[in-house]
Amino acid sequence: MTLSIAIIGAGPAGYYTAEAAQKKWGADVRIDIIDRLPSPYGLIRAGVAPDHQSIKAVTKRYEATNLAPNTRLVGNVMVGRDVAIDELLSLYDAVVLSVGAPLDKPIGIPGDDLPGVVGSAAFVGWYNGHPDHAGLAVDLSHHGAAIIGNGNVAIDCARILAKTVDELSGTDIANHTLAALATSAVRDVHIIGRRGPHQASFTTKEAGELGHLTRAQAIVKPGDLPPEAEDAALEPGHRKMVTHLRSFAGQPRGDKPVTINFEFFRRPVAVEGADKAQRLIVETTRLEDGRAVGTGELHAIPCGLVIACIGYRTEAIAGVNWSDALGRFPTDDAGRIAPGLYASGWARRGPSGTIGTNRPDGFSVIDAMVADGVTGSGKAGPAGLDVLLAARGVNCTDFAGWQKIDAAEVAQARTGAPREKISDIAKMLQIAL
Ligand code: NAP
Repeated sequence: MTLSIAIIGAGPAGYYTAEAAQKKWGADVRIDIIDRLPSPYGLIRAGVAPDHQSIKAVTKRYEATNLAPNTRLVGNVMVGRDVAIDELLSLYDAVVLSVGAPLDKPIGIPGDDLPGVVGSAAFVGWYNGHPDHAGLAVDLSHHGAAIIGNGNVAIDCARILAKTVDELSGTDIANHTLAALATSAVRDVHIIGRRGPHQASFTTKEAGELGHLTRAQAIVKPGDLPPEAEDAALEPGHRKMVTHLRSFAGQPRGDKPVTINFEFFRRPVAVEGADKAQRLIVETTRLEDGRAVGTGELHAIPCGLVIACIGYRTEAIAGVNWSDALGRFPTDDAGRIAPGLYASGWARRGPSGTIGTNRPDGFSVIDAMVADGVTGSGKAGPAGLDVLLAARGVNCTDFAGWQKIDAAEVAQARTGAPREKISDIAKMLQIAL
């Protein structure tokens, strides 16, 4: 009997899980990839930086997965709102939550609710034209911007603030963001790390890119770098990344108007300002057993924008066990949540790794289903979902609808840009339905 699987979330984790299911069961499986948006591709579309277009080429592979005759995209359907998880479990032989981690981890410091303080999910969503964040109020009128966190998302945000309009106009950065950047007063970008250069989680390419920006100079304080001999203990890739940070230290200040200042050993303690963010207060730290410990020495970093790039959380779904401590669904090592219910990608392992890390993750979930003896049991599957959604008047979209949105986005692109995303769901539906 044909097996039916519902995969919730049309991002990389969802598509790799679908690909694994296709490889395992061929024509003997029916797969519905359900997403709350009419557009697929998740973080490829709304997370990967617009000036990293080559990474986005992987969507061709996801498209091929979705074009298989046994696989559908069911867009504009939100699990927990339009359909409950137990309903899906009664319709499909297995359900996989590949919903990612779209919520910002809170900073939890006084003043973090002031206007001007945003999380990276919101800021990245803003420049990528995500429907949830396209309307974000981003104030670029102050010369300073503070970016909290020492991961690649922090680098992405710094690069977007530091690049020229010319450097970005050939990308799919949202028009509203490009317009805001064109008049941006931001000149001093600060990347705040609570630990040191050796503990930063930047990758080599991303750190190196900051050395090649048209109007911005990356600056590391020489005193923040450990003795060079200590780099030998680092894993080779990480050592290379640190080499870039070393190259940013001790350079004469050139004439580029924008600076990207790495502020290592600084822990954010408060955001201050009369009625909006005006400065970030940081405390100098030192490392104790690899942990950042405050020294009591405080500094103020003048800024009108604070972007917290400190990680993400998965959104809870009614009826699914969720851990506040983990910020995601607790699973076993293979991604099992409950009988018939699995998780893959960031919803399973937290916000870490590259896009490609999700591939083995998706395959291992399918292996777990095989080990669990998941088979076709005669459940209603996709046809049953159609009946349920129609009864509720839910206007779901399909992959052909997405292809129409895609064509409309390409058609309305700025000259030289690959697309201008449609951020209004109502407009997407008008095109897709
Ligand atoms: P990340 O690499 O985990 O970095 C998070 C940073 O936030 C760490 O430096 C962490 O410091 C810091 N942090 C956490 N809580 C904090 C707090 N309360 N106060 C101050 N700092 C805090 O996460 P990410 O940058 O969000 O990236 C997520 C994943 O996506 C990563 O695997 C990343 O490599 C990947 N990604 C890749 C690319 C790319 O390949 N181009 C681009 C974007 C994202 P500690 O280390 O001290 O905890």
